[in-house]
Amino acid sequence: DAPAEHLRRNPNIIITGTPGTGKTTHCEALAARIEAAAAGTGPGGDAALAELRHIAVNDIVRDRNCHDGWDATYQSWLVDEDKLLDELEPDMTSPRGGCIVDWHACDLFPASWVDLVVVLTADTESLYDRLALRNYPEAKMQENIDAEIMQVLLTEAHEAYEPEIVVELASNTPDDMEANVDRIVAWVTQWRIDHGV
Ligand code: ADP
Ligand code: MN
Repeated sequence: DAPAEHLRRNPNIIITGTPGTGKTTHCEALAARIEAAAAGTGPGGDAALAELRHIAVNDIVRDRNCHDGWDATYQSWLVDEDKLLDELEPDMTSPRGGCIVDWHACDLFPASWVDLVVVLTADTESLYDRLALRNYPEAKMQENIDAEIMQVLLTEAHEAYEPEIVVELASNTPDDMEANVDRIVAWVTQWRIDHGV
């Protein structure tokens, strides 16, 4: 079989990490660069981004009912992963590819759908401050802090995907974020060169 990435002309990227590590912020920064590239107003090196799109999985779960209700105690949806995968499949298996998937889990996605997994990490103090601003219930706060300390997402990514497609990026400061976004853009450009796109 041909490697999965030959099935599409843009890489699919999962941006994952514990809640509060900066997934949505990174994806929105990428989306701004994608928009500029599509409009032809971005930096030259960004042209490869024109066909990418931010997939905010939270919104899909809510808007397309990929859940079995709202957990009031935990303040989150009870996600129906099978339904979610059905909703994402057309985009993630399309020849266009280019999905930038913003989600706090990664191992539900079949390896054939995924070209890069970015695991964002934050130090405990930063994460605590960010989650405190969200008024998370104490149990949810503690569980997320513990998950970050235990590197749950990083382990999940390494168990589900080949080591060469899993990248850990620190997200503690705005400078980190800027460097990370530049790095992801450079990676997309290189992927397209490597795949003759
Ligand atoms: P996630 O989507 O992973 O839950 P968000 O992108 O919503 O996280 O970020 C949570 C909060 O942390 C936001 O207020 C955001 O501005 C802040 N934040 C995220 N990443 C960074 C960073 N690298 N430096 C400074 N603040 C950050
Ligand atoms: Mn988010």
